This record gives sequence, C-alpha cells and structure tokens, in this order.
Amino acid sequence: MDLVNDRYTIQGVDLVELTETYGSPLYVYDAEKIEAQFKQLTSAFSGVKMRVKYATKALTNISILKLLRSIGSELDCVSIQEVQMGLKAGFEPEQILYTPNCVSISEIKEAVELGVMINLDNISILEQFGNEFHNTVPVCIRLNPHIMAGGNKKISTGHADSKFGISIYQLQHIIRVVNTYGLNVTGLHMHTGSDILDAEVFLRAAAILFDAAKSFKDLEFIDFGSGFKVGYKEADIVTDIEELGEKLSEAFKEFCKEYGRELEMWFEPGKFLVSESGVFLTKTNVVKTTPATAFVGVDSGMNHLVRPMMYDSYHEIINLSNPNGTKRIYTVVGYICETDTFGLDRKMNEVKEGDVIAFKNAGAYAFSMASNYNSRLKPPEVLIHKGEAKLIRQREVFEDLTRNQIEVDI
Ligand SMILES: *Cc1c(COP(=O)(O)O)cnc(C)c1O
Repeated sequence: MDLVNDRYTIQGVDLVELTETYGSPLYVYDAEKIEAQFKQLTSAFSGVKMRVKYATKALTNISILKLLRSIGSELDCVSIQEVQMGLKAGFEPEQILYTPNCVSISEIKEAVELGVMINLDNISILEQFGNEFHNTVPVCIRLNPHIMAGGNKKISTGHADSKFGISIYQLQHIIRVVNTYGLNVTGLHMHTGSDILDAEVFLRAAAILFDAAKSFKDLEFIDFGSGFKVGYKEADIVTDIEELGEKLSEAFKEFCKEYGRELEMWFEPGKFLVSESGVFLTKTNVVKTTPATAFVGVDSGMNHLVRPMMYDSYHEIINLSNPNGTKRIYTVVGYICETDTFGLDRKMNEVKEGDVIAFKNAGAYAFSMASNYNSRLKPPEVLIHKGEAKLIRQREVFEDLTRNQIEVDI
C-alpha cells in the first residue's frame, strides 16, 4: 500500500475508489507482493532442488491459486475440497501434497484416486493405508520433532501434546509398520507451527528430521513445512529468510551427501506468501464515545476477519480517508453482537463517519476464515494484477444465506 498525493494505492489503483466501485467491506490483494515474496523465498536457497507448496488454506480463491501456479508454486492441501480446488485451478495432481489431520481413511482413499501425494500423520491411518495400498502408492510421513515454536498456542503445532504429526519418539513403531506393510516412504515432513523467529529453531528441527531420514531408504524429499513469520507491526522481528536459506541449504547439502542421494527440499508457506499482499477495506458506520473510550464501529466484524479475536493477532489499522488528519486514539470494533475488537487504543488520523478504514496483513487466514455469523454476507475479493483491479469473488447476496436451508411446514 503506497501513499501517493494523499491517496492510498496499490500498483497505482486507488483504494478508496475501489470501495466506491465494489462497495464495502472489501478484500484487496496485491499480486506483485505475492510474486515478490515467492521470489524472495526461492532465491534465498542455493544449490538445492526446492519446491514451494503454497498452503492453500491461507487464501483459497481460485484466481490466487492460478497466480501462484503461474509463478511456479505448487500446493499443500489439508482437505479433499482444497485438493479439488487446486485441480480446478489447473495444478497437476503430482504438484499437490495432501496433508490432512484426523480425517477418515475414506477421504485419504479419495485423495489417492485423485493422484496427489499423501502425507500421513498418525500410526493408525498409516496401518490402514498399508493394508489398502502396500507399496503401490508412495507416502510421506509427518513427524513431530517436538521443537517448541510459534507465537500463539493455538497455532503452535510442535509441542508434546499437539495433535499434529507422529511423535519422533514413536519412530521405531513407524519403522515397524513401514517394514511390515512394505510401505514406499518417499518423503518426511514436519510443520512445527507458525511464527518461527530464528533460523536456529529450524536447524534444530531439521537435524532431528535428518537423523530420522536414515531409517528410510527411498526418500525423494524432505518437507520442512512452514512457520515463516511476517511483520505485523513496524518493530516486529520477522524470519530472516536469507539467513535461513543460507544455513539450511548448507545443512541440507551435507545431509544429502551422507544420505547418498540428492533429495528435494520442500516448503509450505502460507502466511509468508500472501499475508502482506492483502488489505481489508471497511467503512466507518459510527464514531461513538463513552466516558472511557472513542470507538470506531466499522461495517464488518469477527465474521469477516476473526484473527484479532481468535489469536489476538495484530493488524495495523489505517484511516485511508484522512491521511493528514490529527492523530487520535480509537478502539476499532465490529458490528457483530459479541465483543469483536479489531484493535485497542490505536493511534489513527481523525475518523469521521463514512471514512474508509483499512486493515493490513489481511491476505492470510482472513477471507478464508470468514463466516456468515449474524447472517451477514461475505465480502467480495479484488486482485490487483498488472496494475488493474479484477473482481475475483462477488459479494454474497441474501439468497446465499438461504440456499441450503429447507423450510418445513410448521
Ligand atoms: C497451515 C499450514 C502451513 C502454513 O503455515 P503458515 O504459518 O501460514 O506459513 C503449512 N503446512 C501445513 C501442514 C499447515 O497446516
């Protein structure tokens, strides 16, 4: 988002004007930012064969998936519907990794039929998979190296009582199942959780994976998941991708030498690729002062952007309509009948009713977590691509709320 002649723009497209064209609230994504993030990640690693499997769940619009495909990304999917979405966006089945957690064997069989790579994260399903497919379908195994990482407890997946992955302490049991069924294990995977702050955490977990890899003779890749942290506030520490790239590339090459074969290195970034590309535009419905607080009430709420309420995530909030206004302190809230606070005590340029309020870092886990709570309609999405605004999802209408309801005579 740039401020040019007192107007906020993305690739020269005026954001306030977008709300006039498409209405409010509105999600807007910057294709250039997604491309730049992809380039930064892939160029940080050298001398290794690398694949980027974009974590589809972060932002699942088909046009976004097509954009990622066009720049060389592949996909990581956590549900059969995400797999179907990826195929619809034009990805080849071989480009898709399916990493479910606690899904039934029948959904896994469906994914096998679609021809995607299967990543399993519990021993029971691994046994059922062996029973069904023996060595005919390659499989990846998701390990939990128990490296504590991540910001919020709800998005940290590497700890000892996490439901994700198979504990590294169960390695002997895994090997027993693999040998008994003659499973063709072509990949090992870990995803330690979101918001990893330093390269050392990654390297510690990687070392555990390298060690486990010695027990599997047919590996073709190691998937290091994600956890790249992006900046939400000015002063935030972000993952140093260049440092990570340099150190992990070295460690990986060393490992491959020992393993005796050149393996591929996979990553599954979600947030890193799309978070900063997104901005959520809302309009001020009311400015309401109480004895203690000046509230800005916008035409949206936890139904459209739930991260602040769910994870205490911080999203920078900007008044786009008054870039030169006096700074004042506001608490920005939604219109939902629950306490849906977007931001507490935020310094913003003076807000009047009707002003357009923008939430930054709204690309990842923003629209994809939106709901119809309070019978509100989901907002449209616009992609700014090659300097042009393109509508990639229309605003819902009332019929979308009633479409699957069945009225019975009462
Ligand atoms: C959610 C998820 C990711 C992406 O995490 P980010 O923090 O958005 O980068 C990667 N891999 C798996 C298996 C996931 O569930």
